[in-house]
Amino acid sequence: MASIAELRRKLSFAAARERVMSAARALPAEVVTLGEARGRALRQSLAAPHPLPPFRNSAVDGFAVRAADLATAGAAQPVTLRVVATVAAGSPAADPLPPGSAIRVMTGAMIPADADAVVPIEDAEAPTGGATVRVARPAAAGANVREAGRDLAAGAVAFDPGRELSAFDLALLAALGFARLPVGQRPRVAVLSTGNELLGIDAALEPGRIRDSNAPMLRALLDECGAHLVRAERLPDEAATVERAIRDALREADAIITVGGVSVGDFDPVRQAIAALPWIELWRVAMRPGQPQAFGTHEGRLFFGLPGNPASVACVFETLVRPALRRLQGFAALERPRAPVRVARAIESRAGRTDFVRVTLERRGDALWAEAAGEQVSGHLTPQARAHALLIVPDERERLEKDERAEALILRWPE
Ligand code: AMP
Ligand code: MG
Repeated sequence: MASIAELRRKLSFAAARERVMSAARALPAEVVTLGEARGRALRQSLAAPHPLPPFRNSAVDGFAVRAADLATAGAAQPVTLRVVATVAAGSPAADPLPPGSAIRVMTGAMIPADADAVVPIEDAEAPTGGATVRVARPAAAGANVREAGRDLAAGAVAFDPGRELSAFDLALLAALGFARLPVGQRPRVAVLSTGNELLGIDAALEPGRIRDSNAPMLRALLDECGAHLVRAERLPDEAATVERAIRDALREADAIITVGGVSVGDFDPVRQAIAALPWIELWRVAMRPGQPQAFGTHEGRLFFGLPGNPASVACVFETLVRPALRRLQGFAALERPRAPVRVARAIESRAGRTDFVRVTLERRGDALWAEAAGEQVSGHLTPQARAHALLIVPDERERLEKDERAEALILRWPE
């Protein structure tokens, strides 16, 4: 009989990624209010329905003028203009502006077509409410005038689909009047932790037992990538219980993540449950950490069987689960930001395997220098907590030398 290890499908990291991503299809879009749209994936191209700014207006508090009237103005020869109106922000422009006159305007006030410059109040001599203003220097045509459409022309594309909407994007869309926005649905995710050893956060320790640290990490990671947790369960090492929980979760989740129990241990329940769930495959992915995994798709739902060690969970989530969950939402950018880094101290790996090394980063000169964040033991939690990034050691490399350049997935920037 073939051993468990032999029954597993062996894949390179690239092949596993390809398989996962080809199974991940975008969920339908939904419409949310602009106030709810931050961090969501825009699902339609949005073009400006009108120019921005919508009308010509003043960039300063001052006097809207005809620049030609001030052509001869100088310290020795100030020009006096007649003030014909005062316009605050929010009012229609005063019209017209006869030659030799000025309109007192506030920042943002609409200015008429025949004014082509605004003299800042600091450069004008005018008593408040006075009938005239004296200007002692010329004004360039266009000075302090914000032209309609100069920020964004009518019909111009503000954003393409797949955009992760930021606070700044929402400002632009609010100015354009997009009160409701089509965004990708947030994937519903079930997290099933397996292991007789697992306790809740608030439980006192008992001999042989540990607290479930993966479930809260996953809840936070899901939240961070736009997905949301609809079910979280802690299950004993019993294949039948795990199988039932997976079947239940299929009814309410777009993706199911199991944690632990996918390896070759005597009691590994996810591995055993797979006998009754033939659409799930056992994998041996040439990556570290995170080699033993399971993956499957069932009626469009994704199943990720993650190993139990915390660093493995973090790494597989970051490199396989996160991109898939982002694809479900329709994001264009699936990964954490990648940045080039320099290797501060040589890093050992093995050819034929992709390593993701938990590293701290330090900015020195114009480069980010990466150094292993403690021992790369997949059961340890502190290196992951301290790490700024996952440094990628590509398949073909056995070792990265000191000073070499490498790529890293940034988890957070160094302080
Ligand atoms: P397993 O893959 O089930 O053999 O688990 C591998 C290691 O990860 C074991 O030391 C488990 O105790 C540990 N582990 C599994 N699940 C969790 C969890 N949810 N939180 C913390 N540690 C876990
Ligand atoms: Mg276990």
